[in-house]
Amino acid sequence: MTTTRSYRGRLAPSPTGFLHLGHARTFWIAQQRAEAAGGALILRSEDLDAARCGADFSAAMIEDLRWFGLRWSEGPDVGGPHAPYVQSARMAGYVAAFENLRASGSIYPCICSRQDVLRALTAPHAGEDEPIYPGTCRGRENGKWQMADGKGNWRFRVPDGETISFTDSALGGHAEIAGRDFGDFLVWRKDGLPSYQLACAVDDAAMGITEVVRGADLLTSTCRQLLLYRALGLDAPAFHHCTLMTDVNGIRLAKRDDATSLRSLRASGATPEELRAQF
Ligand code: GLU
Repeated sequence: MTTTRSYRGRLAPSPTGFLHLGHARTFWIAQQRAEAAGGALILRSEDLDAARCGADFSAAMIEDLRWFGLRWSEGPDVGGPHAPYVQSARMAGYVAAFENLRASGSIYPCICSRQDVLRALTAPHAGEDEPIYPGTCRGRENGKWQMADGKGNWRFRVPDGETISFTDSALGGHAEIAGRDFGDFLVWRKDGLPSYQLACAVDDAAMGITEVVRGADLLTSTCRQLLLYRALGLDAPAFHHCTLMTDVNGIRLAKRDDATSLRSLRASGATPEELRAQF
């Protein structure tokens, strides 16, 4: 007998600024898909980047999502069986995953100093993807290193030349070649924090997410996360990547553009119904 897991979707915003119409559109699609499947929708705050995330942004995030008409049955404000729903409070799970990856030799410590380390805590959106790491530290023996040494940043050793593919329910088949389209990516920083890639995969699995709905600029992140699921022996969710909203000049909406923030739109008198009509 086969059992199908009931649908569990998630909204996973980062409180690094005010949410804009592009977020709202992706989240609205996520909500519609959860409703159509008769499933649950959860809210998870991806707040690992303490320097960029603020309590004011976290409160605004929840207020803006609710104003827009989004509803969740589990989340930071309502609790639930997988609490806490805030990544900064979920370190134990990330450390366990790190130790698992280290024990299997899937990761290695890297002492190179690179810009991608700075950006690793947040999801790489359009134009922010990390450069392909040349593999300088690949041969470093990880057994001699401990995460607690705080000496290196840790990278996942990707299977060079392997095609990583999946079927996306919005975009169809998607395939990327490890080592060519993306390289050894960061999973842990020497300051003791997991990368977005690791934290996201660990949490989606721990929270029983069956489908991830997010922007199409995270397709390459999905390939990386599929490798993490495999290395950790976890079931991967299904994926639905939404096309990105652009402004009148064809530029992707970003948190730094105040004009399309839900706050500004609301202050200027727009209603959620009018905004949804633009989707
Ligand atoms: N916290 C990420 C962001 O706001 C979410 C990425 C994801 O949905 O996996 O961009």
